[in-house]
Amino acid sequence: MSETSVLIVGAGPTGLTLAIDVARRGISFRLIDAAASPLEGSRGKGLQPRTLEVFDDLGIIDEILAAGALYPKFRTHIGPFSIRGGSIGSSKPATERVPYPNLWMVPQFRTEAIMRKRLQELGGDVEVGKALTTFTQSEHGVDATLANGETVRAAYLVGCDGGHSTVRKTLDLRMAGEALDEKPNPWLVADIEVEGLDRCDWHFWPFAKGGFISLCPLPNTQLFQLSTKAKTMAMGIEGAVRRGTGHRVPRMAWSSIYQPAVRMVDRFRVGRVFLAGDAAHVHPPSGGQGLNTGIQDAYNLGWKLAHVTRGGPDSVLDTYEAERLPIAAAVLGLSKNLYRARSIKRGDATDQLALHYRTSPLSTGSTIGELHPGDRMPDFRFEDGTRLFQHLRGPHATEIITPDGTRILIRPDGYVAHIGTTHFPEYAGQPTRQVRGAIIPLRRQ
Ligand SMILES: Cc1cc2nc3c(=O)[nH]c(=O)nc-3n(C[C@H](O)[C@H](O)[C@H](O)COP(=O)(O)OP(=O)(O)OC[C@H]3O[C@@H](n4cnc5c(N)ncnc54)[C@H](O)[C@@H]3O)c2cc1C
Repeated sequence: MSETSVLIVGAGPTGLTLAIDVARRGISFRLIDAAASPLEGSRGKGLQPRTLEVFDDLGIIDEILAAGALYPKFRTHIGPFSIRGGSIGSSKPATERVPYPNLWMVPQFRTEAIMRKRLQELGGDVEVGKALTTFTQSEHGVDATLANGETVRAAYLVGCDGGHSTVRKTLDLRMAGEALDEKPNPWLVADIEVEGLDRCDWHFWPFAKGGFISLCPLPNTQLFQLSTKAKTMAMGIEGAVRRGTGHRVPRMAWSSIYQPAVRMVDRFRVGRVFLAGDAAHVHPPSGGQGLNTGIQDAYNLGWKLAHVTRGGPDSVLDTYEAERLPIAAAVLGLSKNLYRARSIKRGDATDQLALHYRTSPLSTGSTIGELHPGDRMPDFRFEDGTRLFQHLRGPHATEIITPDGTRILIRPDGYVAHIGTTHFPEYAGQPTRQVRGAIIPLRRQ
C-alpha cells in the first residue's frame, strides 16, 4: 500500500487547482484520473475575473491570457439578414483594484493543459487511467482502492471527480436540486470546424430549420463551440448545421449531451474526505459559474489541508464547508435565475469578485473603509510602485502594515483574515510576509 498526505480523485480544473496548490506548499499528494487521456472539449470556456486572480497567484496568468480572448459580439441571423450587437462579457479597462475585470474565454481543454504543465513544473503529474472504486476511513486515515487493484493510504481524500462522483456516492451523500426544464430536453455542445463563417462574432440562428443554433468561435483554434438542443441534431451534426446555417462542417473534434440542472450536496466534508467542484454542486452553463466555483473550492481547501497536515488544528478544515457551501448555494441560485430568464448577459453578479467569507470563524477584527474581514482583498499600488498582488503571489499569508499602525492580515487565498493592530508573525503554520506602506482608501472592488 502506498502512502500520501492527500489523495486527489479527478484531474479536471478542480483537482488540478488543488494539486498545484498543495504541490507548491510541499505537501505529498497523488492526483489520479479515471480517464486514459485529458479532456478534449471546450465545455467551461468562461473564466471569471476572480478565477483570473487565482491564476495570477498560481503562476499561470500569462499563459491563460495568451491562450484566450474577450467574448465576441453576438451576430443574430434571421433569414437573409443579420444583426450585430451586445456581448456576454464586458470589455472594461483594468483598474487599481481589479486587474482582470472581464470574462475571459479559454476552451476548457486548453485551461486544463496549462494547469497540467504548471503542475509538472512543480514536480507533480496526473496519474491517468487510475479510477477510484471505493474507500474506507478511520480516525487515522483513508484507505482507497483503485480499479487496477492498487490501494492507497492517505491522510485526506478529496473528491474532485465531477458530477457522477464515486467519492460522493461512497459517502452516501445525495445531490438535492432540480432539472431546469420541465420535460427532459437535453442540450448538445460540440467543437466543430465551420467552413466560411467569420470568426469575429458569436453567431446565433434563433429560427434555424430544425431549431436554434449557436456557434461561438474558440480563440486560438480553428473551432467553434456549437450549442443547440440535442433533438435538432437527430439527423447528425454536419447535416443539421448545414441545413440550419448554410455552412459546411468539415470536422467535429468533440461533442457531449447534457441536461441543465442545479443540484448540490448538503455536506462538503465527512471526516477525512472532502468534496469539491462538480462532485459537490452542478450548474447549468448559464452564468458561467461551474468551473470557476470548483477552482475556488480547491483554492479555499489547499492551504487548509497543508496547514493541518503540518500539525494545525483540525477545526480549520471545518471552515471549508462553512465558507464554500453557502457560496455554492448562492451561485446555484444565480445560475438558475439566469437560465430561467433565458439571460446570457454576465457581469458584476457573475464575476465572483464580491463573494466573501464575512461570517466565517476565520474572519476577525474591525473594518477599514468598505473592507471587512472575510472580503476578497482588492489589488492596489503602494507608493513604491509595487502592486499588492505581486506581494500576495505564492503560498504565504501577507500582513500589510500601514503608517498609522493598522494591520491587514491576508490569508493565503487572498481573503482578509483580520483587520486591527495585532501583529501576526505567522498564519496557517507559515511566516507571514510583511509589506509596509500607505494604502489608498479601500473599497471592496
Ligand atoms: C456546455 C457546457 C458549458 C459550460 N460552460 C461553463 C462556463 O462558461 N463557465 C464555467 O465556469 N463552467 C462551465 N461549465 C461547467 C464546467 O465544465 C464544469 O463545472 C467543470 O468541468 C467542473 O470541473 P471539475 O474538475 O469539478 O469536474 P470535471 O471537469 O468533471 O472533472 C472530473 C474528473 O474526474 C475524473 N473522474 C471521474 N470519476 C473518477 C474516478 N472514480 N476516479 C478517478 N477519476 C475520476 C474524470 O475523468 C474527470 O477528469 C460548462 C459545462 C458545459 C457542459
